[in-house]
Amino acid sequence: MKRFARLSLDHRVIIDRSSLALISRLTRLSLPSLTVQHRSLSSLPSTQKAAVIRHQTGPVEFVTDYPVPKVGRDEVLAKVLYTGVCQSDLHTKNGTAAGADGKNITNIKLPHIGGHEGIGRIIAIGSDVKNSSNSDSEEIRIGRYVGIRFISRICRRCKYCLAGQEQHCIGGMTNHLHHEDGAFQEYISLDGDNLTLLPDDIDPKEMGPILCAGITAYKCVQKCGIKPGEWLVVIGAAGGMGHLAVQYARVVGARVIAIDGGDHKRDFCLSLGAERYIDFRSVPSIVEQVQRITNGGGAHAVVCAAGSPRAYANAADMLRIGGTLACGGIPPGTPHLETSIGTIVIKGLRIVGSLVGSLRDTMEVVELTRLGKVKPAIEVRPWKDLPKVYEELENDQILGRVVLKIAEDE
Ligand SMILES: [Zn+2]
Ligand SMILES: [Zn+2]
Repeated sequence: MKRFARLSLDHRVIIDRSSLALISRLTRLSLPSLTVQHRSLSSLPSTQKAAVIRHQTGPVEFVTDYPVPKVGRDEVLAKVLYTGVCQSDLHTKNGTAAGADGKNITNIKLPHIGGHEGIGRIIAIGSDVKNSSNSDSEEIRIGRYVGIRFISRICRRCKYCLAGQEQHCIGGMTNHLHHEDGAFQEYISLDGDNLTLLPDDIDPKEMGPILCAGITAYKCVQKCGIKPGEWLVVIGAAGGMGHLAVQYARVVGARVIAIDGGDHKRDFCLSLGAERYIDFRSVPSIVEQVQRITNGGGAHAVVCAAGSPRAYANAADMLRIGGTLACGGIPPGTPHLETSIGTIVIKGLRIVGSLVGSLRDTMEVVELTRLGKVKPAIEVRPWKDLPKVYEELENDQILGRVVLKIAEDE
């Protein structure tokens, strides 16, 4: 017997969340067989508020007549509650997002609706959406928190999907940055076979940034292969990705050197667990500083979380022999790494990149935050602030992450 509300397209119900949670705990009965409070999906508006970009490099415009997505039989509809604002949203809006070929990505869906660090609640489930497991953690149900990540759809058949690296899917993968509308809208349809189902006991305000900045930082630290007591440098340590990289590095016992610009970021970085802070604006040579702190050897690993070519300029020079540079932040435009090939060969360096992570990786980082081991530093602001937030991102004025409140969690 199914334990979720299997609803036909023309007979979906929306159930009061607290009632549903109680029902779920008390019974394993099929929900449609129960007498529950419900209202028809037809009570949803046909149009909604959305923050649209009509053309790349254009301004953010708030409209109220954007269509509410139609939900396919294999999709769910979610009401968006909160979403982080990622630097990639800014680059896509500005037409400066870099692609795998090193060129700018200009082929995006227009009007563009960004937002890929979103948290919503499922409010409708298509009739063909299947629960593939009997476990509560994988149960698709009305009222459940769901993540709106960078990846929206994958093929599940290509060699990367089969290898658990579906973020590199080559079978027609789509994302919420270039191909599909993201979380800067009130309602979003999501692929029922690729849902990021989240536990009920999360804080929806803080979990959004985990879904892009967090997973990228986590994978960068993981790819460094850092061991307890080893030195790890985080460049851009006070930013959205960087402040989480500092915390993941601490979780694995690394000694962290935080690098960022301005003395006002010092206390913030040290409060995250960094042992040392280097203000790149006030030292003549960052590399010399790192060498001095690590007693001349250099760091075992560097995570570059900053989206700036200048941040990458000396990154590999901070490494000791055999060290790893993990590239997480993508600078705007098409800059190249300037590290000397001689340095890479003679020092035996490893240079790795990381594009977000798989759904499995994502659930690992969600759990670290749910358990309180990694806490995003967020500032919750009204949705209307989005244009201002973009400006502040461009001017490097944000500590941690700004999270926009899209709707009440009712
Ligand atoms: Zn992002
Ligand atoms: Zn695939």
